[in-house]
Amino acid sequence: KENAVNSEEYLYVWSLFYKYTHTLTLTQLYRQKHEWSLSDFELGKPLGKGKFGHVYLAREKRTGFIVALKVLYKQELEEGKVEKQLRREVEIQSHLRHPNILRLYGYFYDEKRVYLILEYAAKGELYKQLRDCGKFTEEQAATYIQQMTHALLYLHSNHVIHRYNCLCFLVKYNQPTTNVIRDIKPENLLLGLKGELKIADFGWSVHAPTSRRTTLCGTLDYLPPEMVEGREYGEGVDRWSLGVLMYEFLVGSPPFEDQSGYRATYKRIARVDLHIPDHVSVEGRDLIQKVLVCACVVSNPLNNQYTKLLQHDPENRLSLDKVLCHPWILKYAKRPSRSL
Ligand code: ATP
Ligand code: MG
Repeated sequence: KENAVNSEEYLYVWSLFYKYTHTLTLTQLYRQKHEWSLSDFELGKPLGKGKFGHVYLAREKRTGFIVALKVLYKQELEEGKVEKQLRREVEIQSHLRHPNILRLYGYFYDEKRVYLILEYAAKGELYKQLRDCGKFTEEQAATYIQQMTHALLYLHSNHVIHRYNCLCFLVKYNQPTTNVIRDIKPENLLLGLKGELKIADFGWSVHAPTSRRTTLCGTLDYLPPEMVEGREYGEGVDRWSLGVLMYEFLVGSPPFEDQSGYRATYKRIARVDLHIPDHVSVEGRDLIQKVLVCACVVSNPLNNQYTKLLQHDPENRLSLDKVLCHPWILKYAKRPSRSL
């Protein structure tokens, strides 16, 4: 036990030491060399396995800087027909700089593999944490949602919105100026050393869901009504998934999940059939409803009263700026006014 504490402390001190120097050093190295290769890194323990490859802890030899190295097999990328998407999204990802978005420092390849040099998320998967504790406290949930909102605002300011490449519901995107990224759900969120949320993962990987949501039904959970109905969609989808995420953090399962199959989930999303359990705070309930719900009034059998539900129409969903000033965030988030 002592060792674990020590190693965490070591990592923490180490991260403070490198906090301001490492980016510079890596960037300088990158400028000097232009190209990375596997011989620049010492590989450490495996961190996990995804659909297209493995992720390892690694240390850049010259700076000692710790990263996560994602190793993807070219053949599998070809077979999955995701090379083009990977290339485009790696381009976008490598230009993003935000404390709540996992950094991509660079990439390189050899004959058989493509390597992505990623920021190391020391506390691992957020989903694992959610599964371990069932649901988050209002404080935890509000802090994560606040960090997520800051990251989304940053992405929007860079004309990046997330897109769902759902197996059946591949909807044509028709705003050519907007770049494409992200699949917002707990599985794609990692945690940094201080427990700060990091949006990770690329849109291309959702072509082949690996973890818990392996069914089409699962893939639907985070889709907004405009997408399940095949209508045009835009930035409003991010706000919808933020609401779904918030619900899942506070309740432990997504709001429209339906065990009887994807058709039932589809219907529940289209109807915005939302039931918020009584343990959720008044402020939390209000925000979920404002982000998700709409003008339609749906019966809520849980507390036998009528509830105004999710914003079916994206225009009516609360804006991200307003999410940050909402009483729930102000009351429960650890740092009400700024991002971590
Ligand atoms: P998919 O192939 O659909 O993306 P996945 O998210 O499970 O599935 P990867 O993104 O390849 O697969 O990652 C595999 C696992 O490795 C993750 O679930 C996570 O636990 C771990 N991991 C990935 N990237 C990092 C990172 N930067 N820092 C720490 N752990 C990571
Ligand atoms: Mg992943």
